[in-house]
Amino acid sequence: MAKITRKPAPRKAPVPKKKAKAVVAKPNAPAKKTLKAIKHWTPAEVHEVFSRFRKANPEPKGELEHVNPFTLLVAVVLSAQATDAGVNKATRALFEVADTPQKMLDLGEESLREYIKTIGLYRTKARNVIALSAKVLSEFGGEVPRTRAEIESLPGAGRKTANVVLNMAFGEHTMAVDTHVFRVGNRTGLAPGKTPLEVELGLEKVIPAEFMLHAHHWLILHGRYTCLARKPRCEVCLINDLCRWPEKTV
Ligand code: SF4
Repeated sequence: MAKITRKPAPRKAPVPKKKAKAVVAKPNAPAKKTLKAIKHWTPAEVHEVFSRFRKANPEPKGELEHVNPFTLLVAVVLSAQATDAGVNKATRALFEVADTPQKMLDLGEESLREYIKTIGLYRTKARNVIALSAKVLSEFGGEVPRTRAEIESLPGAGRKTANVVLNMAFGEHTMAVDTHVFRVGNRTGLAPGKTPLEVELGLEKVIPAEFMLHAHHWLILHGRYTCLARKPRCEVCLINDLCRWPEKTV
């Protein structure tokens, strides 16, 4: 009888162990647990907070310099991932020569780049500003459009741009959520959310209409000068008794 010899089973290549995924904490995004634990504000408390903001600063102003709705639109488009101070430094000279869509087109993309080259992503931004100027002229008769959909259709403009322009140029009750508003909305517990849109909709829901025109600026200024990202100044904070942040220092 022939001897059956078994072939040795092929050796399996060792399966590399999966590396554990690094957990990268998003700087301002709240953990799920934190979101659940935050106690909701009562309408009276929200009213109290914004009354204090209003008393301390009745007419808050945005810090992006502009001379008309068009220059506001351009300044907001330039401000993506840049500071207002950095944008202002560049636009002061720019808006002296180009404060309308036609003048911006006459200036041209190459010269525009020279004015804004100190701002991050300036090449893309210059292209967008020229394209949006052309569109404002050709489709909107040279005037910045007044609806969200129309503003968002302009090159370089997104939801935040539309919210800022609608609020500051046209007095609408919109809430633009930048990094400061996102942080304040979450930390205070006023409108916790994992995305800027969640925070925006949450704030619109809880803030009484009488405060909505200025609410965006009060929250930005609060985040920029008091509720700082790394070291919030809770000891001088106007609303420290009402704030829900478990890590507040008062
Ligand atoms: S108490 Fe502190 S954490 Fe709360 S809003 Fe004020 S500065 Fe921010």
